[in-house]
Amino acid sequence: MPGHLFGRSTKGTLPVAVRGEGCYLIDAAGKRYLDGSGGAAVSCLGHSDADVRTALHDQLDRLAFAHTGFFTSDPAEALADRLIAHAPPGIERVYLVSGGSEAVEAALKLARQYFMEIGQPQRHRVIARRQSYHGNTLGALAAGGNAWRRAQFAPLLVETSHIAPCYEYRDRAPGETVEAYGLRVADELEAEIIRLGPETVMAFIAEPVVGATAGAVPAVPGYFRRIREICDRHGILLILDEVMCGMGRTGHLFACAEDGVAPDLITIAKGLGAGYQPIGALLTSGRIYDALAAGSGFFQHGHTYMGHPMAAAAANAVLEAIVGRGLLARVREQGAKLQAALEAELGQHPHVGDIRGRGLFRGVELVADRETKTPFDPALKLHARVKALAFEAGLICYPMGGTIDGQRGDHILLAPPFIIEDAQIDELVSKLSGAIRGAL
Ligand code: PLP
Repeated sequence: MPGHLFGRSTKGTLPVAVRGEGCYLIDAAGKRYLDGSGGAAVSCLGHSDADVRTALHDQLDRLAFAHTGFFTSDPAEALADRLIAHAPPGIERVYLVSGGSEAVEAALKLARQYFMEIGQPQRHRVIARRQSYHGNTLGALAAGGNAWRRAQFAPLLVETSHIAPCYEYRDRAPGETVEAYGLRVADELEAEIIRLGPETVMAFIAEPVVGATAGAVPAVPGYFRRIREICDRHGILLILDEVMCGMGRTGHLFACAEDGVAPDLITIAKGLGAGYQPIGALLTSGRIYDALAAGSGFFQHGHTYMGHPMAAAAANAVLEAIVGRGLLARVREQGAKLQAALEAELGQHPHVGDIRGRGLFRGVELVADRETKTPFDPALKLHARVKALAFEAGLICYPMGGTIDGQRGDHILLAPPFIIEDAQIDELVSKLSGAIRGAL
């Protein structure tokens, strides 16, 4: 049934999704798919959560929309309070948007405006990491380090510095301790700040656990603490992008809690609305907000749908579920089981180089040679073959040919709903293993 809609690809046709039931999506032909990646780390509560549905119905009966230029709303106010109650130290204010890229754009603009407000207009440069994705809008795309996504839009992107990622599996030198490795790569930030001129640098942005471009790669212990010290030494804002790894995905509501750092700005989205509504948020320190309040009193930004009452109502119900049902502990428990099951099934496979992650955010990296860690030829599009075979078998996973310092590497990202049962973990691992074996 060819229609007029166009989306990600102009080739082929996609099955029509008609229903969601817990961890499964069901298409028009009645085929069931285990949602092993929550789409793209979105559906943290599964697809038919009764409490979120009730919250949405109730909100729709009261108020669907009121423009934030004129009104605030109960669900938006409640959501901000809920988020701050769980936020890292120093984070005091919330700005609601409609997704991850919008949250990152807002972070970059707020960082810039902060320095204008405090009389440091020369600060405008952003430093990010090569192995990163921060969104597809032009500001966020400029910050991200995914060469493939950036390439054809390069003339539209503001110049951004990209330093090394923290990627122990690939980059820790033989004989180097984990701690020494973390400090060595963190110190690249300081070298780049000095190269650019510290007084011109505005912010460093990074994902605590890298998602789409690397497949659930956490930083090593100590890395982010050193990053925080470097930012503080040079008066630079630290933006942590938790659009994918936040909202409990790693077993902590904010992933950075595990790294022992508090950033100046945090972006969240995906799991915040859990797929029930499009919503994202920028959380900011009191210091930044206060500078605005004492200065112009106005954030020169805004979108029509920011603070949407329906989206905020969904997010309130999602947060209530994550915290109230004890899902963070469950994520840690089921995440450890998923890691163990992946290791048991694929740990000895000659083309599985690394299995890693935190909580229910796991990555499997495929390599042509385990000893040398040589990636497969990108022309093979191995990740796409794994995705297709898994999908055929009724498993949704999120494979990418990530760009790693110019090298292509295939990985598969797993981010199932927090409600995943043991039997569904077994189903996920067995179908994934079948797809990997079939693709090689
Ligand atoms: N930041 C990170 C870390 C992401 O993983 C993504 C999306 O994958 C984004 C930002 C962009 O979010 P969105 O697709 O909601 O615009």
